[in-house]
Amino acid sequence: MNEPIKKIAVLTSGGDAPGMNAAIRAVVRACTYYRVDCVGVYRGYQGLIEGDFETLSARHVSNIINKGGTILKSARSEEFKTVEGRAKAYENLKKAGIGALVIIGGDGTFTGGLKFIEEFNFPVVGIPGTIDNDIYGTDNTIGYDTALNTVVEVIDKIRDTASSHNRLFFIEVMGRDAGFIALNSGIGAGAEEILIPEKNLGLDRLVESLDKSREKGKTSSIVVVSEGDKIGKNVFELADYIKEKYPFYDIRVSVLGHMQRGGSPSCYDRVLASRLGVAAVEAILDRTSGVMVGVTNNEVTSVGFNKAIKMNHDINEELLKVAEITSV
Ligand code: ATP
Repeated sequence: MNEPIKKIAVLTSGGDAPGMNAAIRAVVRACTYYRVDCVGVYRGYQGLIEGDFETLSARHVSNIINKGGTILKSARSEEFKTVEGRAKAYENLKKAGIGALVIIGGDGTFTGGLKFIEEFNFPVVGIPGTIDNDIYGTDNTIGYDTALNTVVEVIDKIRDTASSHNRLFFIEVMGRDAGFIALNSGIGAGAEEILIPEKNLGLDRLVESLDKSREKGKTSSIVVVSEGDKIGKNVFELADYIKEKYPFYDIRVSVLGHMQRGGSPSCYDRVLASRLGVAAVEAILDRTSGVMVGVTNNEVTSVGFNKAIKMNHDINEELLKVAEITSV
């Protein structure tokens, strides 16, 4: 641990998110700036196990800041969940003379990183890259802002058709365990009702809200539903339930799906990714390990993997109030 670190590896893992490329670019260029070598690992932890490495220079990452996805590819690796798999990964890192690892991903990625540190005392620093924004220790994760903008753009388009035909639209957005995308895109796109996993608003509340909308003369409505909402019905069952109760509604369902992960990253995500890429390399050179770097109140911060994984990034109650007030 006391030898100088001369080579840093970087990988992307779990679900891809727009802005991961900007983070890779920042890691590579920070390495160049601080005169350490940088190695890209393809396909996340699986590439670590298979030794799928490539040395990256500052020029290798030209023209990627604006690109969605990840040039290093991402993967979910079952083998890395085994001690044997992680031992292979460690051997490959040692063989390549790599002294530290930057991991870009979500909760699962950090859980794997923590185990790796505990088993091999190998320095690892994390960067939060996931569209769900469900990680404690940073105000925003890389990709979340872009995903929000994508969702709002699509809901705006759906609203045009909804209002032309007096339709009730149920729009499912990503977020199995976290309602950040639903809540913020719902407010941003002016949804009548927003259903999120953190709050069980119940079917009665939804029905009541639709009744009120009708009484007030609203002729079309948008309901944004997070994948993991707690009513316990999927978006199609929800639509069927309402249709049975209100046969006069012309109900449509739209599941936005993977389009939410794609696209060119927003400026916000590019800047966030650039800051976090630099911060991760600086943390490693400062001999820090087992932390995720983040931005909180516009300051670069860091939090232990343990906390980032275990603690919840709470939904802002004020936003729930704003959603309720602005949908009257
Ligand atoms: P997202 O939030 O986008 O899903 P994530 O990082 O949470 O991203 P996961 O698929 O949960 O995505 O985890 C990514 C990878 O991290 C897994 O494929 C696996 O290789 C590794 N990983 C996850 N959990 C563990 C664990 N308990 N032990 C070791 N490795 C793990």
